Amino acid sequence: MPSSTAIISARGAKRLAVGHPWIFRSDLVQAPDAAPGAVRMADQRGHALGWAWWSPTSEIVLRRVERDADARIDRAWWRARLAHAIARRAPLAAETNACRLVHGEGDGLPALVVDRYDRWLVVQFLSAAIEAQRAVIVDVLQELASPAGILARNDVPVRAREGLPKDVELVAGSVPEEVAVNEHGVSYLAAPWTGQKTGAFLDQRENRVMLRALARGRALDVFSYHGSFALHLARQAESVTAVDASAQALTRARANAARNAITNLTCVEADAFEFLRDAAAAGEQFDVIALDPPALAKNRGSVEGALRGYKELNLRAMRLLAPGGLLFTASCSYHVTKPMFLDVVRDAAADSQRPMILRALTGQPLDHPEVLTIPETGYLKGLLLENGEG
Ligand code: SAH
Repeated sequence: MPSSTAIISARGAKRLAVGHPWIFRSDLVQAPDAAPGAVRMADQRGHALGWAWWSPTSEIVLRRVERDADARIDRAWWRARLAHAIARRAPLAAETNACRLVHGEGDGLPALVVDRYDRWLVVQFLSAAIEAQRAVIVDVLQELASPAGILARNDVPVRAREGLPKDVELVAGSVPEEVAVNEHGVSYLAAPWTGQKTGAFLDQRENRVMLRALARGRALDVFSYHGSFALHLARQAESVTAVDASAQALTRARANAARNAITNLTCVEADAFEFLRDAAAAGEQFDVIALDPPALAKNRGSVEGALRGYKELNLRAMRLLAPGGLLFTASCSYHVTKPMFLDVVRDAAADSQRPMILRALTGQPLDHPEVLTIPETGYLKGLLLENGEG
């Protein structure tokens, strides 16, 4: 008999019980007779399992959002859930005007991303169920955040798996090409329409501040994008070199340096692997290095190649470290886990023949919550290392 409730297998129910919200197609026993959106779930014995986002074309057909089957997923529900997520970020307001307001599953709101850039919001509707609820989401965000404009950066590949088009769309008000972000006393321009992610890499904010506090001498920012690490380092170090393969990113890095009246930054357009190799061959040394490559593993199949890439980059960076020098190295590849990253950096340390001291292990900031039972909410890890040579 058709029903609006989704029936899931025992294996699916077990997954929910250990704190993971996803139900895969193979664990769907009976599809709900419903359009994409919020549906009730139950197991085969009729035991209610709460509410989930229903995405009929996705491999992840259901994502649980609410344990209480008697709840109603209405405007008041959305208001409470979004207000809770926004309130978590309150401590950041003193130091920045840009942060992630909603980090999908990390905030109990699967497939929804909302980033705030000053008075503007950039959203990503990442599943058919979320897309179907766009109107209420936008309405509540207007009420809670009073933005001057809302932009949807829906130009992401996962949308295809949900049967949704890839596009960039103005959803409310107006959104400028560039927004000035203040980040712990540094100012940079984010590009919500065209920049990477939703306009900037907000997730490295605290790592930049950490490295800046320790910076001195000659600093190097590899994979600099628009110079976010470099701008912070330039405040403390004597000189900073920013390296990126994108001329466009470096043009913005130079403009950002000018905004901050920074004059000790040099931008180099180069392949990072080649730059690091050539700098070592030339006998160069740096006192502080930030190494923040793009996700080298885009999927499970590319992990092995990615690990070779991380090893090579880290080895080359270690060879450039002056005695006592600091390396902050990061990986934002979800498929490269924390233990894998630590192992590969350890391999690089062994090959470097330097006693690399582990000073800090970092994860995601307050506004990108990683829920321990939902590995997919975590992707960013960082190591602060010191060359222990005297
Ligand atoms: N550190 C930055 C984010 C880096 S994003 C921040 O905190 O904001 C990754 C950057 O790597 C992009 O700017 C991209 O242009 C650059 N990139 C990708 N492949 C590269 C390569 N082989 N050599 C140098 N830069 C590369």
